[in-house]
Amino acid sequence: MRKKIVAGNWKMNKNLSEGVVLANELVEKIGALSTDVEVILGVPFTHLEKVASISDKFSVSAQNCSAHISGAYTGEISTTMIVSTGAKYVILGHSERRAYHSENNSDLAKKVDLCLNDNLDVIYCCGELLLERESGNHFEVVKNQIEEALFHLSEDDMSKVVIAYEPVWAIGTGVTATSDQAQEMHAYIRSLFADKYGSDIAQNLSILYGGSCKPSNAEDIFSKSDVDGGLIGGASLNANDFSQIINAF
Ligand code: PEP
Repeated sequence: MRKKIVAGNWKMNKNLSEGVVLANELVEKIGALSTDVEVILGVPFTHLEKVASISDKFSVSAQNCSAHISGAYTGEISTTMIVSTGAKYVILGHSERRAYHSENNSDLAKKVDLCLNDNLDVIYCCGELLLERESGNHFEVVKNQIEEALFHLSEDDMSKVVIAYEPVWAIGTGVTATSDQAQEMHAYIRSLFADKYGSDIAQNLSILYGGSCKPSNAEDIFSKSDVDGGLIGGASLNANDFSQIINAF
């Protein structure tokens, strides 16, 4: 059976001490829940080691990694460095990295390989722009993002990938996809994996929804059969909201 996952994406928020306070608040809140949901915190690089050491109630994820193994790449952080902090995941292909750092699917394919080689699981983000949805191209856009960055992987490696469908028009905007829109795209994504890797891999693949998910809409979105959890931005910065979302299954 596939995992249910709620992952927070703190983005570039919280200094280290604020991050530690938030993680500790979460430990208290999550401790009070009886849940089978895996909780992941996507924190800034500077916070990985400290936050990872706070509790085993959650795993820690980086929000990016270098496309290079090591060497003269000033300012970059390698997958080997990320592993050494105790992190278990890396978020790749977030729309903010595609938009502001020009990351494309072939850059992401390299990063995916480096993560998997270093035993870091990948949360791979995909999703269309508003214009692409309005022009009816949303399925094609998501298909290309997935095929070009992931479809070279072996079956074994694919089992270490989680997909986050994040329609760009819903990220940080307060506009959420309807639960039917999320279900429609998640089912389509699962069908792509079924066609390429077969039904077992597709059925075991966790597909998260991201985009203005909050306590008031999480239950509706998570009730859909192909939605296996959420990648949560803004609402993950508040322990109360985030734990309510975890509890929304
Ligand atoms: C995100 O950045 O991955 C995200 C889903 O953000 P928000 O929840 O704030 O829309």
